[in-house]
Amino acid sequence: MAAKPQPVTRIRTCRACGVRYEYPLRGETSTRHHCPDCVAVPPPLRKVCERLLLRVQKLEREIARLKPAPSAEKVSAS
Ligand SMILES: [Zn+2]
Repeated sequence: MAAKPQPVTRIRTCRACGVRYEYPLRGETSTRHHCPDCVAVPPPLRKVCERLLLRVQKLEREIARLKPAPSAEKVSAS
């Protein structure tokens, strides 16, 4: 086999903190699923971060669902 094909750099979202980062990036320690910051976090802690991120995302979706659309019916109760 010849030289390993260089994967295309693209934007990925970190599984642990949700930040968007470029991967792969020369000189960076980031992996396919974790940004350079979270790669340095011990795996057990990272697991907790991933769990919390999922909860945050779930709550964000819930908030978006509960928030009335800007142009929705005006609340003019009288
Ligand atoms: Zn991260």
